[in-house]
Amino acid sequence: MAALEVGAAMTYVVKVRGAGGLVVAEYECPAHGRFEVTVQREANGDPPEHACCSFVDANGRWCDRLSPWRPSSVRGWVKRGEVQRGKSEAPEHPTWMSTRELGEGMSMAEWQAKRDKVWEEHDRKQDKELFG
Ligand SMILES: [Zn+2]
Repeated sequence: MAALEVGAAMTYVVKVRGAGGLVVAEYECPAHGRFEVTVQREANGDPPEHACCSFVDANGRWCDRLSPWRPSSVRGWVKRGEVQRGKSEAPEHPTWMSTRELGEGMSMAEWQAKRDKVWEEHDRKQDKELFG
């Protein structure tokens, strides 16, 4: 599913606006189990409640299942509860956070390309961790 674009993979970090920057968080895909992904923090500093699984099968098909955040520590769970009390509108998909950029003049094609690059970068990182 991801576009086969190479190069400039890091530029999206510079372009992403708002919130508190990037953080590595753990999510659990219903099909593939836990995985770590670099996500953009929400305004409150926590990662999004959900991320899409970045597992890619032998046919190159991206899993993309919606996977809930799995804070790995007790401290994380406590913090999550605190966050939920004050949260009114949480994006269920991390890439939705970027849709605001469409309203700032970014073309759909550019946005889609950026979204793909986010996951390409993640896949590279995960492959490195899993297969060394
Ligand atoms: Zn999956």
